[in-house]
Amino acid sequence: MPDIAALRKTLDGLKIEDNPALVKQKSRDFFWYSPVLKRQLDAVTADIVVTPKSEDEVIRILKACYQMDVPLTVRGCGTGNYGQAMPLSGGVILNMAEMNKIIDIRPGRLTCEPGAIIHDIDEAARADSGQEMRMHPSTAKTASIGGFVGGGSGGVGSIRWGGLRDLGNVLSLRVVTMEDNPRVLELNGWDLQKVSHAYGTNGVITQVEIPLTAAYDWVDVIVGFDDFMDAARYGNAIGTHDGLLVKLVSPIAAPVPHDYFLRHRKFIDEGKSVCLVMVAAHAVEPLIAFTERGPGEILFRSDTAGDLKGLPPAFELSWNHTTLRGLRVDETITYLQVLYPFPNQLALVEKVHDYFGDEVIAHLEFVRFDGDVTCFGLPVVRYTTEERLDEIMRVHEEMGCVIFNPHRYTLEEGGMKQTDEVQLAFKREADPKGLLNPGKMIAWEDPGFDYASSKTYLFPGLEQAG
Ligand SMILES: Cc1cc2nc3c(=O)[nH]c(=O)nc-3n(C[C@H](O)[C@H](O)[C@H](O)COP(=O)(O)OP(=O)(O)OC[C@H]3O[C@@H](n4cnc5c(N)ncnc54)[C@H](O)[C@@H]3O)c2cc1C
Repeated sequence: MPDIAALRKTLDGLKIEDNPALVKQKSRDFFWYSPVLKRQLDAVTADIVVTPKSEDEVIRILKACYQMDVPLTVRGCGTGNYGQAMPLSGGVILNMAEMNKIIDIRPGRLTCEPGAIIHDIDEAARADSGQEMRMHPSTAKTASIGGFVGGGSGGVGSIRWGGLRDLGNVLSLRVVTMEDNPRVLELNGWDLQKVSHAYGTNGVITQVEIPLTAAYDWVDVIVGFDDFMDAARYGNAIGTHDGLLVKLVSPIAAPVPHDYFLRHRKFIDEGKSVCLVMVAAHAVEPLIAFTERGPGEILFRSDTAGDLKGLPPAFELSWNHTTLRGLRVDETITYLQVLYPFPNQLALVEKVHDYFGDEVIAHLEFVRFDGDVTCFGLPVVRYTTEERLDEIMRVHEEMGCVIFNPHRYTLEEGGMKQTDEVQLAFKREADPKGLLNPGKMIAWEDPGFDYASSKTYLFPGLEQAG
């Protein structure tokens, strides 16, 4: 057992929280989206939360934890969905919230500390020079940029700019290693892949440089359809229309829009499927012209709706917010993460939609993926049992979809179901004792694990944490 009292002494003068209720609060994320993770992770908690104010303090904390063999899990704002920021072996939560300074804004690029809130970054870039981030998660108002790089994948803006891990969507990172004498590394180019989406298992990001693009006034448009597949075809067409500047294209099947988007319900009749669109103000008229060709009809436009008080922006109905709004109405639902590979995305979507009917309700997010427009799905699932959930995923895979399982806490099972050799090699170098976010990288914990088996990886340390 790590000697937390001794660690506290070594960290004297730093901001430390040990009130068990507050520590537990900071040891959680949105893992409860998944009934499977809810069962597995509910008891997980750290021993203390340490909140550094500078990179020097991060180095001091990592050095002390290394010397005393204390596990450490980095936390941005804890909005991840898969228990990414949850300390399976207890120990320290490194809370990055107070390292949130914007350091530098230039044409096309911005440098900041990792705890900066994404919405604040956008506001600062807009005020400074009419710029904004290329993409943000739908949690922009509550999530940090360090957490987005460490645990996110893309989101609002991905229809134009692809995924966060695509070369060019993060420019450079400063990363502190977990060693006797922690090193500060500057990563760029391909090296960024060592720590991007690595759940903080192989280094602590202390500075982020991201590209910026021109900021626009974005207008929310909701287009209604009687048939979901018309919404899907419309989304595909909007996404591939070269001249229309859009930032979000999200077809969502009935009954989700009427039943779960309570604030927008007055605009959406029962039985309507929708496509949510964020479009630049100058592109609204062309979008309307395109839409008038049918069969959709405009249900809502934020530029002409008048009083918008109480209405969330469209992006807070999209991506994982769709499920969140659903969970607030019906806590028995859950969701999946699916990729419908190009060029068969529409045919696949239709096949899956027809097969499952109301058990799996379609929700698509159009994105540019390796240069082609296709769609991810975050369908709402009417949950019955874990076995049925696994069966639903298996059927998707048999049909040709790729599943990113949101009901697993490991990098590999939630991702491509294979070892990421680059991240593993970097962990050997940057975290030789395996103290950073234990239990999340199977390749480190159990190198012989067979991803092809249908077994779920269970981190042995989890039982001690509970
Ligand atoms: C309603 C809802 C909607 C969402 N929509 C999206 C979306 O559109 N797109 C998307 O990609 N995600 C989405 N997410 C997931 C999540 O909100 C984002 O990925 C977000 O950017 C995570 O930021 P955070 O600060 O909350 O990170 P946290 O949850 O605190 O951390 C995420 C991971 O990054 C690691 N980490 C955090 N800071 C650092 C650091 N400084 N150095 C190294 N590792 C670090 C953590 O250890 C953890 O593994 C959504 C989640 C919810 C609940």
